[in-house]
Amino acid sequence: MSPSRSQGKLYVVGIGPGGVDYLTKKAEKVLLGSEYVIGNGAYIDQISGILKNTKIIRSGMGGEVERAKKAVELSKEHIVSIISGGDANIYGMAGIVLEVAEKEEDIDIEVISGVTAISAAASLLGAPLVNDFAVVSLSDLLTPIAIIERRLNCAAEGDFVIAIYNPKSKNRKKNFGKSIEILRKYRSAETPVGIVRNATRKGETVIATTLGKIMDHNEDINMSTVVLIGNSESRLWKSRIITPRGYQKKYDY
Ligand code: SAH
Repeated sequence: MSPSRSQGKLYVVGIGPGGVDYLTKKAEKVLLGSEYVIGNGAYIDQISGILKNTKIIRSGMGGEVERAKKAVELSKEHIVSIISGGDANIYGMAGIVLEVAEKEEDIDIEVISGVTAISAAASLLGAPLVNDFAVVSLSDLLTPIAIIERRLNCAAEGDFVIAIYNPKSKNRKKNFGKSIEILRKYRSAETPVGIVRNATRKGETVIATTLGKIMDHNEDINMSTVVLIGNSESRLWKSRIITPRGYQKKYDY
């Protein structure tokens, strides 16, 4: 180890979609071994039951750049975990933390994977992914709306199952209806749609409906919801969604 090398370590930890059972053992181990855990209040609340002697630094929503800088700075001398809901690579903290760390000399950094919202939601819906899928966030805070719409068009044209993150926020409710209009250009009204709110945590709701009826559920969709649009082969089965992988073309069952 060179003398200039920092003694600390920085973990970027995906803590899963909410339920503590969905925190991986690895994430739990890392959190318990950290001197500091940094995260926004809602995510800290999600794991506070398991934290013991850790110093907790809560920050508000937004402020990700400051949070990342603080974590990088502290990690020069301490074992630090900066947490992200779900998986840190899916619209999470991994990106900004590595971008900040890149500007420093020698930060020891490790990213710990977590269960992302669409994995949790898909399991609740049965088997709606299984084949190729695309993930699109409707948040236009960091991505211009024109790019979001282009990606929706491409994903729909490519017949991907589409997972929509950040369908709405407090101040952004309209993109969602516009996005559904885009998808309707490519997909029939019968296309299965899953709406999962608060997957694995308090207030969990799961709705399986169709693209034609999705706006009947407009009020159920908020910033704690992930929306899944099936592909041309997806079908509803009871209150579930199945997207065939293709076995039916090769096998009898
Ligand atoms: N890194 C997170 C996603 C952060 S973006 C992950 O991997 O899951 C925030 C968006 O994720 C929310 O607006 C919502 O669309 C989705 N989301 C996060 N947790 C959720 C949950 N428990 N149930 C449903 N959607 C969730």
